[in-house]
Amino acid sequence: MLHSVWNLIPAFRGYDQQDAQEFLCELLDKVQQELDTEGSKRRIVIPITKRKLSKQVLKVLNTIFHGQLLSQVTCLSCKHKSNTVEPFWDLSLEFPERYHSIDKSSGSTAYQRSCTLIEMLSKFTEMEALEGSIYACNHCNKRRRKTSHKPLVLSEACKQLLIYRLPQVLRLHLKRFRWSGRNHREKIGVHVAFDQVLNIKPYCCTGSGHPVHRGGYTYDLSAVVMHHGKGFGSGHYTAYCYNTEGGFWVHCNDSEMKVCSVEEVCNTQAYILFYTQRSA
Ligand SMILES: [Zn+2]
Repeated sequence: MLHSVWNLIPAFRGYDQQDAQEFLCELLDKVQQELDTEGSKRRIVIPITKRKLSKQVLKVLNTIFHGQLLSQVTCLSCKHKSNTVEPFWDLSLEFPERYHSIDKSSGSTAYQRSCTLIEMLSKFTEMEALEGSIYACNHCNKRRRKTSHKPLVLSEACKQLLIYRLPQVLRLHLKRFRWSGRNHREKIGVHVAFDQVLNIKPYCCTGSGHPVHRGGYTYDLSAVVMHHGKGFGSGHYTAYCYNTEGGFWVHCNDSEMKVCSVEEVCNTQAYILFYTQRSA
């Protein structure tokens, strides 16, 4: 397994500490690419049964892990909305600004308070004003071109991200590592409070003309990856996984596995959260 990864994703070669989130995205990308090429290119070499199988695996992979995000830019001059739909493997959630540079301001009690997942999801999907008049609105410029040859009209705009299509397994990456300086990533060590049940509806586009989220909006916590240590290039990853058949949590630490309480899971310094869609 390790050698296959080294072969396919050269950036992860060697025994250096790597980022779990970057690795998961790269891995899923590669699996998808492999299955895609098997399904389309080498038709003669691959027997039909195997091709069918890769197609099925690809479909499973896509419905389980692949979601879509809607990026909506609203022109503030004409109120026209421009929509772009993009695929995602996970949502990278930033910490609200007051949690940044935590070490420099240690001693301030405001920073001791824990952040909540809800706060981070709200920040991810909040309406954000683009700085200055930088947006070339299609709608504003369409009308203008008919009458004049003046340069493009730039207007002020705001942008919002919303979930367009929900994956069955929703992965939330808490951006604990932020660039500070050119070659240094510092870690935000603040605790993030999260619940075992997540209602994702407030962060989805649900208006008319948008897709119906068939599986529903209720998600149950199924795994948590945590990062131990202070820096990006060091530390250690362990994972908490929920055993659905047994109904208990397990802490996986390299070769060691231990049953643990849900309280322990919720008190960890989470780095990646996995939520699974509740079946209707
Ligand atoms: Zn406009």
